[in-house]
Amino acid sequence: MSVLIYLDNAATTKPCDAAKAGVMKGLEVFGNPSSLHRCGLDAELLVTDARTAVADSLGCLNEEIFFTSGATESSNTAIFGAFKSQGKRKHRVVTTTVEHPATARPFDELERLGCEVVRVSPDENGIISAEAITDAVNEDTFLVSMMLVNNETGAILPVSKAFTAIHRRFPKVITHCDCVQGYMKLPIKAKTLGADLISLSAHKICGPKGIGALYVRKGLHIPALLMGGGQEKNMRSGTESVPLICGFGEAVKQYSGNISERLEKARRLEALLFELCEKNGGISVNYRGEKSPYVNSISVEGLKSEVLLHYLEKREIFVSSGSACSKGKKSGTLAEFRIPVRNMDTTLRISFSPDTTEDDLYGLMEGIAAAQQELAKLK
Ligand code: PLP
Repeated sequence: MSVLIYLDNAATTKPCDAAKAGVMKGLEVFGNPSSLHRCGLDAELLVTDARTAVADSLGCLNEEIFFTSGATESSNTAIFGAFKSQGKRKHRVVTTTVEHPATARPFDELERLGCEVVRVSPDENGIISAEAITDAVNEDTFLVSMMLVNNETGAILPVSKAFTAIHRRFPKVITHCDCVQGYMKLPIKAKTLGADLISLSAHKICGPKGIGALYVRKGLHIPALLMGGGQEKNMRSGTESVPLICGFGEAVKQYSGNISERLEKARRLEALLFELCEKNGGISVNYRGEKSPYVNSISVEGLKSEVLLHYLEKREIFVSSGSACSKGKKSGTLAEFRIPVRNMDTTLRISFSPDTTEDDLYGLMEGIAAAQQELAKLK
């Protein structure tokens, strides 16, 4: 039986055993956290325990963490919340051209509602500088949103530097960061990031799907997206998904202690991947700027992403087509990062989890080499 090689961890990760056990525990403790009796209290204790784990991981207060259905909801809450809270006083928002749709689409909607949306592009070297972001902010700006790690290239954006400079000049501007691809992978603390709002997702860190969190800096008040029973201190109504929250909390506990060691391991894997790409020939590494080693974009000359993806799948090797084309729709992000046009249709995204091994990468390269031989014959 062949061994499964899963290298699509930027799309989602396999839940760890601790997270699965957490979900089970949350199913067994079935009370509604809002109930006043013991069953409710037991469930509430589990939610508090998970909230503490997430808060500790960001170095913030429990009261600054609100559970949501995932980063999409967190970012929507952050962006529309900031919009509603500023009334009609200011109308300008600043973001980048490389954001995930969970951020980019809400900004399209703000534009439709009359906001001036400034989208900062990477320069000719594929880099977004902190200065480019801060220069785009003026007196009319009420919100700045930028991601920490890009989900297609792994590029790290200078969030901390930009947000610190912005807050120094414009203390009232609200800053939001989509930390989905950096959380539990890079050593992130809410204070050093300088973000007022941070979006997190559990399923990228070996937790369950359908659960995430929004960090809201103490003292900042934004209106909720979902209204109803007033759960999560009115920030997110709806009965808490105790099983998913527990699973999230357990994944955080499992991985928050050894971020630096895992980062070192991911750096070694990234170096090996790049080395193997060079040795193999016909493979280029698309992005080598300052980046997270967990997300890598490569292109295999002459082999269309989707064709290669399905060829590898037959060998039990799972990668992404690089998000260059998500279900037939081009994302444009790779072009923004100045990846050569000739590489665009041949991009693969190779992304790591704590379980990724060197053998996975050797297996991937064998698969690509076999495809290069076999599929080239068909041409
Ligand atoms: N932001 C980034 C950078 C992502 O990679 C993703 C997921 O692909 C999201 C946001 C959306 O997260 P969720 O699936 O939790 O809504």
